Amino acid sequence: MPGPNDELNPFNLALQNFDAAADLLELDGVVRDRIRLPERELIVHFPVKMRTGKVTMFTGYRVQHSTARGPAKGGIRYHPDVTLDEVKALASWMTYKCATVNIPYGGAKGGVVCNPKEMDIHELENLTRRFTSELSVFIGPDRDIPAPDVYTNSRTMAWMVDTYSMHRGFYSPGVVTGKPIAIGGSQGRTEATARGCVFVIAEAAKQLDLNLKDARIVIQGFGNAGSIAARLMHDEHDAKIIAVSDSKGAIFGRDGLDPHRVSAHKERTGSVVGFAGAEAIAPEELLTLECEVLIPAALESVITVEVAAKIRTRIVAEAANGPTVPAADAVLAEHGVCVLPDILANAGGVTVSYFEWVQNNQGYYWKEEDVNARLKEVMVDAFNHVLLTSKRYHVDLRRAAYVLSIGRVAEAVSWLGLYP
Ligand code: NAD
Repeated sequence: MPGPNDELNPFNLALQNFDAAADLLELDGVVRDRIRLPERELIVHFPVKMRTGKVTMFTGYRVQHSTARGPAKGGIRYHPDVTLDEVKALASWMTYKCATVNIPYGGAKGGVVCNPKEMDIHELENLTRRFTSELSVFIGPDRDIPAPDVYTNSRTMAWMVDTYSMHRGFYSPGVVTGKPIAIGGSQGRTEATARGCVFVIAEAAKQLDLNLKDARIVIQGFGNAGSIAARLMHDEHDAKIIAVSDSKGAIFGRDGLDPHRVSAHKERTGSVVGFAGAEAIAPEELLTLECEVLIPAALESVITVEVAAKIRTRIVAEAANGPTVPAADAVLAEHGVCVLPDILANAGGVTVSYFEWVQNNQGYYWKEEDVNARLKEVMVDAFNHVLLTSKRYHVDLRRAAYVLSIGRVAEAVSWLGLYP
């Protein structure tokens, strides 16, 4: 596990991106430090009754990186490798992601060190309810709004709403987003990350004079983000999905794969592998296939310097968080690849989470087409602002997204003042 001064420490990596953008913005000392460091870090140790009747202690974290632009917002992950520094890094990315798409939220993240794959549903419920109780002094619809992240889902959010509402004594659906529709979830939330990503791909394609009809699309990861992006590119842009992968392997179809049928196959068999008519390829081959749009939608750090040197695409659209290592950006730029950075390309998810929270607060629920139309407006506007910033500062779109978002946070911090 990287130590606090280790260069692989995730928070140190996040600070590198922050510092580069803050230098371009010439941010002064106190404004800079106020954004650089998280506002609040909560560590909790709490007991959970397991199925054996034994009580086990767990450790959880919640970090509020910034509340300068609005209440803190960010997911909760359950994973054995969760650390405070990882949560701090993820919380800062949430601040920048929300500011990139200009929604009135700050950034937060949380996590519990646990292995959900080894826990049954009752243990997960006990853990979630106890963790929510520990957090109840920290979170709230006006303060900090969690959402699902790695190995948490709408089921987890429903337990959180119930536990928080029990503590407060009244129904509080706005305390989390990513809920089931029946308890205040939003129409369109499931598709939102992929839909937002496809909106920015379409905008980038216009800029590059790239016709998406019959454009070859390669997608790593066929889960929520990847499979829905495949469907939307196929159905709404007539693009050709030539290769997809999941944790079990990768498949290739020169004439295009029907994403609906691939999903049905995955539903039946648990993987995209073995899809009739497709050719099995080595997973490491997938990222370097010749295509027009490459969508990493699975893991972090898959586009290394070595992979970047072999990538043959016009656009990389980062549906996943952190798929490109920092040093690979320069290689992609040298090869003329347009990278749509994660804090822009996958911000559709948090944008519709924001819409969910607005609907909860108003008690007035929108139709799916209204959600999608508003999402499009936000994503297109964000793309145009990032593009303008990249031209103004002569930087790539990732650096531009950081400059734009950190500039917005800095402006808020300056107005709020720097003293108590
Ligand atoms: P998911 O669990 O639904 O899907 C992940 C997919 O990746 C699965 O198909 C899995 O089999 C595949 N995968 C795992 N290891 C792989 C490997 N080695 N090679 C190829 N595929 C592999 O998760 P998701 O919600 O789609 O999230 C995917 C990425 O998108 C993550 O980085 C996540 O942080 C990011 N993201 C998701 C959302 C959202 O709303 N779902 C929002 C923002 C960012």
